[in-house]
Amino acid sequence: MLFSHTQYLQHLKWMQLALYIAQAAGEAGDVPVGAVIIDSFGNLLGKGENRKERDQDPTAHAEIIALRAAACKLKTWRLHGCTLYVTLEPCPMCAGAIVQSRLELLVYGVDDPKTGAIRTVENIPDSAASNHKLSVIGGVLESSCRQQLQAWFTHQRHRLQ
Ligand SMILES: [Zn+2]
Repeated sequence: MLFSHTQYLQHLKWMQLALYIAQAAGEAGDVPVGAVIIDSFGNLLGKGENRKERDQDPTAHAEIIALRAAACKLKTWRLHGCTLYVTLEPCPMCAGAIVQSRLELLVYGVDDPKTGAIRTVENIPDSAASNHKLSVIGGVLESSCRQQLQAWFTHQRHRLQ
């Protein structure tokens, strides 16, 4: 996908915020994943960090929390024209929720070889079950997103030994 330098700088800015949010999740004991949603004017609508362990909630992924916050703020589940930034490629549950929300653009950091449902393991947005065309940009601040996850898993392993 082609995009201008200005748009790319926007993508970097919002992904930096998603990384910052993810860091807080990691420090609180959850896998560090962070998400933010902005509208077509560049206004922040919602933020989410992974809270699965803290809330003991299998649906408490960063993307779901950010989607709920944005829909609540807009008072509609239709997130037309909105962009979701997330540090890790969404899983099948989140990819399904993103398609349901009619989001315009998904920007993510690093591919997830285990459960990535945008292109790595599955491609839910382009599947027969999807009724919405989603634009996707992957690999934004990819190395920072990967390093954050790797550092967290390394730390967890050492903590458990
Ligand atoms: Zn998910």
